[in-house]
Amino acid sequence: MKKPVITVIGSLNMDLVTVTKRVPEQGETVLGEKFHLIPGGKGANQAVAAARLGAEVHMIGAVGSDTFGELLKRQLDNEGIFIDGVKPVTDVETGTAMITVSDGDNRIIVVPGANYALQPEDLEQHEAVIAKSDICLLQLEIPLAVVERAVALAKKHGVFVILNPAPAQPLPPALLEQIDLVTPNEHECGIIFPEQDREKWAAKLVVTEGARGVSIIKNGKHIIVPGFRVPVVDTTGAGDTFNGALAVALSKGMELEEACRFGNAAAALSVTKLGAQGGMPTEKEVIQLLE
Ligand code: ATP
Repeated sequence: MKKPVITVIGSLNMDLVTVTKRVPEQGETVLGEKFHLIPGGKGANQAVAAARLGAEVHMIGAVGSDTFGELLKRQLDNEGIFIDGVKPVTDVETGTAMITVSDGDNRIIVVPGANYALQPEDLEQHEAVIAKSDICLLQLEIPLAVVERAVALAKKHGVFVILNPAPAQPLPPALLEQIDLVTPNEHECGIIFPEQDREKWAAKLVVTEGARGVSIIKNGKHIIVPGFRVPVVDTTGAGDTFNGALAVALSKGMELEEACRFGNAAAALSVTKLGAQGGMPTEKEVIQLLE
């Protein structure tokens, strides 16, 4: 069977994670316990999730001409992802997330850096890749103008579009109208779709609800596609795994409810292991859980 072809247009970040007993006060220095360099960014994470599940994945994004940029590209290449669409930029650094973990709590500073250097015009040279895709998968960690151009290009070629609207920001109705599925978590859903006009968009909404699973519309009624009970180790990247898996399942022709079940299974497996990309399962592992 032909591999699903998925193009992800989104962010690549290097996560710099420091584990410390105590967070320093202003002007103070403390000794931390551990340091981890972890490839991330919602775009890259969702690309890895889809590739592990057997899709042919093309990544479009931007990194700085620096060591982190090289490491992030190499990591995607190792996963078998096509990285010709990852633009190197010279005047700004690769996107980073500085994460301090102390006492089970996170403090995070994200510097989008090169992710915001991606321009709508950059997409023109990737039109052929977008056109041959089964699905285009997008998030909001790149400029909204790039998302808008990507959606327009995809729809020009009749390509199915999924937007994972994270981090949440208000979205123009003209953009939402062109998108086939929008996959917010409950918090993002509240920001983007105020209660009074949620019903208008309900048919395109797949709302992720953590361990509960996801909420969708089936035959005009709201239903829950239940999540899988698993021992939780780290929920980082659950949403990214769900989105990558949903894209793969829909590309293979599954109906929305069945595709959400596949996504729930993949995401459940991802929370049983540490790290976002670290826990993303293979197709075989997902099928085992579904049986
Ligand atoms: P994150 O930001 O942690 O990546 P998110 O907030 O975007 O996640 P969630 O709604 O928390 O998204 O989770 C996405 C999906 O992951 C859920 O719909 C579910 O399928 C799965 N999931 C999340 N948490 C759990 C859990 N504790 N047990 C099983 N499945 C889970």
